Amino acid sequence: VSRTVRHIVRGMRSREAQPATGPAAKGADLRYMRELNHRLVLNSVREQGPIARVDIARHVGLSRTAVSNLIEILLREGLVYEGMPRSAAPSGGRRAILVHFKADAGYVVGVDMGRSHLTMLLTDLAARRVAHTSGAFDVDQGPAVGLPLVIHEVRRFLERHAVTWDQVVGVGMGMPGPMDARLHRTVAPPRMPGWDGVDVRGALRRELGVPVFIDNDANLGALGESRYGAGVGVRDLIYVKIGSGIGGGLVMGGELYRGSAGSAGEIGHVSVREDGPLCDCGNRGCLEAMASAPVIVDDARRALDPKSPLAARADLDVADVVRAALEGDCACREAIQRAGEHIGVVLAGLLNVINPSLILLDGAVARAGDILLDPIRRTVGARSFSVASAHTQIRSGSLGADAIALGGVALVIDAAFRASERATAGTRGMSPPGDPPRPGAVPAPAGALPAGGALASPGVGASGAGPPA
Ligand SMILES: [Zn+2]
Repeated sequence: VSRTVRHIVRGMRSREAQPATGPAAKGADLRYMRELNHRLVLNSVREQGPIARVDIARHVGLSRTAVSNLIEILLREGLVYEGMPRSAAPSGGRRAILVHFKADAGYVVGVDMGRSHLTMLLTDLAARRVAHTSGAFDVDQGPAVGLPLVIHEVRRFLERHAVTWDQVVGVGMGMPGPMDARLHRTVAPPRMPGWDGVDVRGALRRELGVPVFIDNDANLGALGESRYGAGVGVRDLIYVKIGSGIGGGLVMGGELYRGSAGSAGEIGHVSVREDGPLCDCGNRGCLEAMASAPVIVDDARRALDPKSPLAARADLDVADVVRAALEGDCACREAIQRAGEHIGVVLAGLLNVINPSLILLDGAVARAGDILLDPIRRTVGARSFSVASAHTQIRSGSLGADAIALGGVALVIDAAFRASERATAGTRGMSPPGDPPRPGAVPAPAGALPAGGALASPGVGASGAGPPA
């Protein structure tokens, strides 16, 4: 197992070291094409497998000989194995030997570092859950205490499940606050004193010794739901997490949209009311200051019937309010509905601009289900163009508290297996010079490939959105 993991990690590191602007030298073309074909075949097995060699050849547009050579390499690398399909009943006649992805050849760790919780998920290489744990965490203690604690907890988590670091392909972690995705650093996160610009990724890499990827938690929630949850198969979606803050993530064209600096999707800090209450970010009237969990709790508390058992509770939290709303408490229902209307106003604007087909609501407040969703649907319907809203579904996420950690897992799996950023949209198998071109095969381009190819590069998460177009 660890030999295969070493191989995967070496590939991730060498791809990261490569400049993203085309092959450095002429001689690099051939190596690049071989690597690309290797990944196309592997991804065909990951996504369509178990699959016969002949079907792989048809799918990637390479000759059967070329595919067979690549399968031999993948067998040696321990990334695939051959055998009968698990469900095959012997029914006489020859059955094709199928190529299977060896998902248990290594592990991936997904981490969700929240303001008040730390959730960790251990999966195989197909993002199938192996182990899970969640506990309290306090982001207010700052990085000097918080970071060593995260590292300690991740190590203990693996030890408890008898997994060693040489079996781990990488760690993907979500954390709150706006993020410079290129630097993997938070930038001036509100309500996170001490965390501004801290090199979280570098610290984790040094201590854990495996590839580490960091992103904004709501971005990873969007990615997780898009690959493994309610957003599977959806190209354009908006993910909104409503908890102690309001975070958002955008998936466009099947990929996480990060914007030019990586901070895209901060839906919680869109202004709803110009002269509204002061927000932690310094702006006034942000959605977060009008509709996040603490606002809902305050709102409900003010309107509670004095005879309600909740009225006396000093430690009333949003879970209590949601529960009471579901049991029919009017004050709690109305507090959640008012928040839903504010959220709907912002989403209506986004709908007109982005035109997604799905909006997913997540987080503690989303547990209220239709009590939250109905006012959002109503407001969105009333305030956006019908051409946009008629084609947009508004629902809850399906991964619950695991969405962000699973998004972290998706980051690692992408880095390990997807075709490089340079691969173009719809690129099929490439024939090395000298090999006769196959139907569907695209000849190697002379120079750098067109930008933006990552949007539709072949390969979606293992249990992801089905075959590429
Ligand atoms: Zn704000």
